[in-house]
Amino acid sequence: MATSFIRDSPYLSKDRITDLAHPELTVCSLCNGLLWLPVACEKCETSFCTSCIKTWRIEAEDPRLCPKCSTEYIQRPCPGAITHILSTFNIICHYKPHGCSAIVPYKSLETHEETCNYRQKTCPGCEEKIIRMHFNAHYYTCPSVLLTCPECNSIYQRQNADQHTDYKCLRVQLNQLRDQMMRIEQIQNGKLNLLESQIRHLIETIEQIVNRQRISIN
Ligand SMILES: [Zn+2]
Ligand SMILES: [Zn+2]
Ligand SMILES: [Zn+2]
Ligand SMILES: [Zn+2]
Ligand SMILES: [Zn+2]
Repeated sequence: MATSFIRDSPYLSKDRITDLAHPELTVCSLCNGLLWLPVACEKCETSFCTSCIKTWRIEAEDPRLCPKCSTEYIQRPCPGAITHILSTFNIICHYKPHGCSAIVPYKSLETHEETCNYRQKTCPGCEEKIIRMHFNAHYYTCPSVLLTCPECNSIYQRQNADQHTDYKCLRVQLNQLRDQMMRIEQIQNGKLNLLESQIRHLIETIEQIVNRQRISIN
């Protein structure tokens, strides 16, 4: 058994299970945590977390072999008896250190943690980590969050909003209009030049025809 392979941080550490039973079946020998999304070796039926066996098959000396029975590893689904025992466990939410007191059934753990009110989100303004239940209150008052002026699209931090005065805003809009006018002028000049060269070409062609007729009359 490759004990040196034990991962530092299992997905589900054993101390998060309130009612652990049959640890010889339900604990992954690669990470020493509770089996998570388990699969098994067809030969010896030992179960591993999907991510643990994946890592094993990248990092092991001979990745073709089962970490337990050392014959060629062929994967099969985790035995139903083990998934049944796992489904009876209750797990302490990962966000307990942030205040969540939920203890949820093994099968609902992922859904709970995805929507847990104590999960943290990073504020895009001050980059502080805020628990989800307090996030909106923080985000809509955080002085570092960037705001966009609806009139001129200027971007500034909330704490600098009063520096974006009506006067500044109108100046920006004026410059934007100037730029627009210049672009329109450039386009129109381009069209005028094209027309001029077409007219010049027409005049030349007419002159050539008139000259040819003169020559033939003479
Ligand atoms: Zn594992
Ligand atoms: Zn095996
Ligand atoms: Zn929670
Ligand atoms: Zn913030
Ligand atoms: Zn503005």
